[in-house]
Amino acid sequence: MNEFALIRKYFAPLAEAFPGSLNLSDDAAILDIPEGSQLVITKDAISEKVHFLPGTDPALIAKKLLRTNLSDLASMGATPLCYFLAVALPKPISEDFIARFAEGLAEDQKQFSIHLAGGDTITSATPVFSLTAHGLIPKGKALRRSGAKAGDGIYVTGTLGDAALGLLDAREGKKNALTERYHLPQPRVNQGVELRNVASSCIDISDGLLQDAGHVAKASNVAMDIHLEQLPLSQEAREKIAAQPELLPLIYSGGDDYELLFTLPEDATPPFPATLIGRVGKGEGVRLLEHGKEIPVQRLGYSH
Ligand SMILES: [Mg+2]
Repeated sequence: MNEFALIRKYFAPLAEAFPGSLNLSDDAAILDIPEGSQLVITKDAISEKVHFLPGTDPALIAKKLLRTNLSDLASMGATPLCYFLAVALPKPISEDFIARFAEGLAEDQKQFSIHLAGGDTITSATPVFSLTAHGLIPKGKALRRSGAKAGDGIYVTGTLGDAALGLLDAREGKKNALTERYHLPQPRVNQGVELRNVASSCIDISDGLLQDAGHVAKASNVAMDIHLEQLPLSQEAREKIAAQPELLPLIYSGGDDYELLFTLPEDATPPFPATLIGRVGKGEGVRLLEHGKEIPVQRLGYSH
């Protein structure tokens, strides 16, 4: 099947509900932006062996790629609108792969109310996928990394470290709740929207809690104290760390959480369940404390 036939069969159906896509039949898409809104745009690229293991279900690869972009939209408080996709696969391009990849996208499009608006398919020695997601936000309302103030509380959604622990299990061929979290992040899109008029700063945790908290500290010109004993852990993560205590650092420096870290003024409470993990202070940098005592950290997070 040639490229045009593949696009018509597998990708055009993902675009048909979004008029701006022109059904992938023209040279580019046309986006209508509602009066008083801004476009929020983010891009991620992933490649085999670096971001996903060879043999991974193509539907999971597609979902994770879409969801990591949705997580970035969430961190800005944006509502998902549409996305553009580039697929690079070794020759001959496997129709089964494309079919399964498109199936994953179709499922997540429904779940997260987003549509394909355009893209490209090419051949390449290594599988690489890139996705650019567009979201909408009322003008001037985007959440930024730069607004945290001394005294603000630091909060996170969900639980931390599951994906990093899950990657270890996935490498051993295991399947459990942790590997599920590694393969399928849960972007906090609704929470991001709810934080719009509430949070003083926000970021999504993709490369490790401490490293991403460090980005907020730097952008906001503040210090952050994070309390180890307050970090939210799933039951599965707790059990794994109880058995292998040396894995504890993955909770605060492992990647792929895709939870939101946000700050709120001292007297505010989060508009949804979230965990208070620390406090913004004057100065710079991130400190990890255990029962009030700073503990040394070998590695802040994942660096690309
Ligand atoms: Mg991000």
